[in-house]
Amino acid sequence: MEVAVPLPIDHPFTYRVPSGQEARARVGVRVLVPFGRQKVTGLITALADGSTLGGREAREVLSFLDEEPYVSSAHLAFLYAAARECLAPLGEMLRAALPGGLPRRAAPAAPRTETVYRAAEGSPAALTPKQRRVYAAVLEAGEISSPDLSALVPGGGDVARRLAAKGILAGSVRMKSPALSASPFPDTSGALVPTSHQEAALAKTGVALASGGFAAFVLHGITGSGKTEVYLRAVEQARLTGRQTVYLIPEIALTPQLLGRVRARFGEGAAVLHSGLPPAERAHQWRRIRAGEVFLCIGARSAVFSPFSSPGLFIVDEEHDSAYKQEEGIRYQARDLAVMRARMEGAVVLLGSATPSAESIRLTRTGEAELLSLPERIGTRHLPEISIVDLKGQSARRGADRYFSSALEDAVEETLSRGEKAMLFVNRRGYAPALTCLDCGTTVQCRNCQVSLTFHKQDGVLLCHYCSAKEIPPERCGSCDGHKVAQVGIGTERLVAWAARRWKDARVARLDSDVGRKRGSYEEILSRMHGGEVDILVGTQLIAKGHDFPEVTFVGVLLADLSLSFPDFRSAERTFQILTQVSGRAGRGDRPGKVIIQTLSPEHVCIRKAAEHDFHGFMEAELAEREALDYPPFGRMLLLRFWGPKLERVQEAAETVAETLSRPLSEAGIRMLGPAPSPIAFVKKKHRYQILLKMPPRFAVGDFFPELLRPMREVAKKAGVRMEADVDPYNLMI
Ligand code: ADP
Ligand code: ZN
Repeated sequence: MEVAVPLPIDHPFTYRVPSGQEARARVGVRVLVPFGRQKVTGLITALADGSTLGGREAREVLSFLDEEPYVSSAHLAFLYAAARECLAPLGEMLRAALPGGLPRRAAPAAPRTETVYRAAEGSPAALTPKQRRVYAAVLEAGEISSPDLSALVPGGGDVARRLAAKGILAGSVRMKSPALSASPFPDTSGALVPTSHQEAALAKTGVALASGGFAAFVLHGITGSGKTEVYLRAVEQARLTGRQTVYLIPEIALTPQLLGRVRARFGEGAAVLHSGLPPAERAHQWRRIRAGEVFLCIGARSAVFSPFSSPGLFIVDEEHDSAYKQEEGIRYQARDLAVMRARMEGAVVLLGSATPSAESIRLTRTGEAELLSLPERIGTRHLPEISIVDLKGQSARRGADRYFSSALEDAVEETLSRGEKAMLFVNRRGYAPALTCLDCGTTVQCRNCQVSLTFHKQDGVLLCHYCSAKEIPPERCGSCDGHKVAQVGIGTERLVAWAARRWKDARVARLDSDVGRKRGSYEEILSRMHGGEVDILVGTQLIAKGHDFPEVTFVGVLLADLSLSFPDFRSAERTFQILTQVSGRAGRGDRPGKVIIQTLSPEHVCIRKAAEHDFHGFMEAELAEREALDYPPFGRMLLLRFWGPKLERVQEAAETVAETLSRPLSEAGIRMLGPAPSPIAFVKKKHRYQILLKMPPRFAVGDFFPELLRPMREVAKKAGVRMEADVDPYNLMI
């Protein structure tokens, strides 16, 4: 029998079943097996023997860990296919896909839960004074957890439990992990009448779900057009056909609003999966999904592996978001895997976004997916008016002032004077992205990486955004000993300082990943924002994701060019997405919104089209350019990365691999670019090289490469160089 082990080895191993235990050997069951001198947990992938023995006698399975398969055979087939497509060993895919890899023991059963109480129907009969106090506390709170109750009334939790047993209170159990916390959200679904566009979209998904075969849809809906409502109703449609839904969102920590809404609609019928959950909770959610106790799983990218027995619908919200690309360990694209799994399961996949990716739009052009549109915002709210300000004439202004046009200043001023709120967006954290000597032009670089260090004023350090190395900011230039070391450029910290100086009475807050890292501060800022206690919110992309602050009527983009200047074929697309997303934060309430985009390249098509709210106009131009250069989606790419401590070794390994591959690649019609140093050629003390392969569209990567690359890995390994293959890469910098 064949057993896959969760190690980076790309074939399963053969083991013998102890006699008398044949009935327990089933595909998908976990087993404990001897492996070298260790014992490891493996997964049975086939009952017949393969040929991985090399003449030696197969060893015997030590024990079977499951009565029923831990992974169903349909699920295993998907994991196999996913591993192939990502050029990853099955064992590593198992480790990435299953909670806790392949745990030997089932995770502890009881996740941390708490009981919450509400008053039951009817008025209670005679109560003791203490019971009355508890009852009053519950009434006052509406709903309150047992520990909170005990904090108000000593012993209150126990009293409540007895009252619940008598039917005076109603108790229910909920997860108490903060990772699962959800904002309360009123369930308005009953009152809501779908718009004609929503209706049309749902008619299509309904027919596809009822027919029970594979179908793909791209739902293009501008911000606030009611996409989420379509998703939730499609979940219901899938449920009526007896099938489950996997609902992916880019980053679950940012969307307590969505969780609240889903809970309000589906109650305990929804599970949540993401890597931020404590292991026991993750295992618990996994079990509920596998046991069929829920019909919906919401999660970040790894939820694409949800062990539903018959998933009928895959929703990928904000499908364009690069967070769907896993960049550590196995590099998989969860959106693409969702499409693949839907195909294998005969399911419907719904890719939604305000700015669908070029890849998805292309699918709608080739007929592989159907385009559904929600072109209008719900209700009377309009899209904000966006103007572009050319920053090039700003050189007369000095210091940080040079980053602000008077148009932007005036707009913030007016917003504040009307008692409304403003958001200022700059896609960079820290105070200044560089310290540069004004005498000799030298910029302070990281000692481990080929990047300049960012000045973080609040912490008083220079920080490397690649390796997190810290340095004390130098007073004199390390190269010429000059003492005019200037802070160059602007990040969120500097923007906050400037805004606070400019508007002394305004309450200014900052939201970026530096703030987000400190426990609770992210939630705190959001709740201050919702409470109207912040006048100007400064931040990176974090402020743009999924928030709905009705009082924000102005959004200023400080420098749209930051994301445009990357040497990456997706930079225009990303800039368009960011600008659209950030702009979408303005005017979500009753008052109209206004946006100013400051830029050094006002003529760039992505900036012009973003300002015109013209997604299709932008996409036309973008697709034409991609097609001319054979970039995705008009071809596939594979990036081979090489890194190691010695430059010559890295270069040599890359060159040897390139030389060996050149014949078979050109015979297959694959173009090779490089080897060349990576755009950032030195990171974390390692030199980096790349080979970029450009393949025809729909090239069968998983069929062609595994055999070809296996000996290449050996070549690199012998030279002390790491080699990694990244299929359809998103990060071309390192
Ligand atoms: P999106 O996901 O496209 O940003 P949402 O689904 O969140 O949009 O909808 C935006 C707002 O409009 C939400 O408050 C939602 O409850 C409301 N909404 C959605 N569809 C309708 C409808 N058909 N009628 C009234 N309100 C709706
Ligand atoms: Zn560094």
